[in-house]
Amino acid sequence: MATDYYGTLGVAPGADDAALKKAYRKLARELHPDVNPDPAAQERFKQVTAAYEVLSDPEKRQIVDLGGDPLANGAGTAGNPFAQGFGGLGDIMDAFFGGGQSRGPRSRVRQGADALLRIDLDLAEAAFGTTRELTLETAVVCGTCAGEGSAAGTHPTTCATCRGHGEVQSVQRSFLGQVMTTRTCGRCGGVGSIVEHPCGECGGDGRVRARRSLSVKIPPGIETGMRIRLTGEGEVGPGGGPSGDLYVEVTEKPHPTFTRDGDDVHCRLSLPMTAAALGTTIKLDTLDGEEEIDIAAGTQPDAVITLRARGIPHLRGTGRGDLHAHLDIQVPTKLDAEQERLLRELAALRGEERPGSSGGRGAAAGLFGRKRR
Ligand SMILES: [Zn+2]
Ligand SMILES: [Zn+2]
Repeated sequence: MATDYYGTLGVAPGADDAALKKAYRKLARELHPDVNPDPAAQERFKQVTAAYEVLSDPEKRQIVDLGGDPLANGAGTAGNPFAQGFGGLGDIMDAFFGGGQSRGPRSRVRQGADALLRIDLDLAEAAFGTTRELTLETAVVCGTCAGEGSAAGTHPTTCATCRGHGEVQSVQRSFLGQVMTTRTCGRCGGVGSIVEHPCGECGGDGRVRARRSLSVKIPPGIETGMRIRLTGEGEVGPGGGPSGDLYVEVTEKPHPTFTRDGDDVHCRLSLPMTAAALGTTIKLDTLDGEEEIDIAAGTQPDAVITLRARGIPHLRGTGRGDLHAHLDIQVPTKLDAEQERLLRELAALRGEERPGSSGGRGAAAGLFGRKRR
């Protein structure tokens, strides 16, 4: 069945060019996507535009008048006449508004800016994740005018300077002849309309600043300098335009005992000399709570005890880093008489009263061994 192009445009089959143009212009005003965001209206606008395109072309119109459909031949074009035959919407709007290179008025409604918020996290929060309630102040849609910018009962009026085009053209004479230049209309800023009675709440911007709160989920394993993106939680755009995104940047607060290196954590652990020599079991505060760790007899001052998978969970993938406890072996500084006597006795038993002299096995041999390397 051939498409009823005359019916779509709402004109009689005998309509002349002026009548076609008038009918299309009227429909375009109410259906153009800039004015009417309704998907049904956009679909109808495409049909109306296709009908106008067909009927304003004498050859195509003749096919219609003979009962045919100039857009129906060729498989790919039948479903989407709009994609075929002419250069699209821009051309046809230019035909009306005489723009040449004109882009037409730009929308008062624009995309909002992104926002950035910084938060501090404890090591445990960064390690295991958390949920934070944030309070932030951003632009939100003005509740009084719903983003339109006009006071109640009023609407923006067409800019008289550019007659709604958003641009003004001027002709200049040069030695090359007449040159036509187009520039953005200074009166309306290129929007094509003027808010004569601005909304008292937002002053015509369509948005106001407001405090609001939202909660953000912090994933386990996050690190200083990383940003979490919350889509659409940034600033609302002028005219109530779509919001930008909110970025939450984290900074990890220093921890009293742990320092972080990637997903590994390091800490220092003090151990009396006697415990290092004899071996013991001690309690260590880890990120997961207190844990008992075994210290082998004869543990040396620069020893590092590594607890596998007790570090920070990996942000991507599974598993965790390690915890490294660096041992500080503490040599007693104040000995009472009894302690000194026992230590001297031990030294005598080990032949260590005068390290470095003959028979001293410990320190001297060690030193010598290191020097040779
Ligand atoms: Zn307002
Ligand atoms: Zn203007």
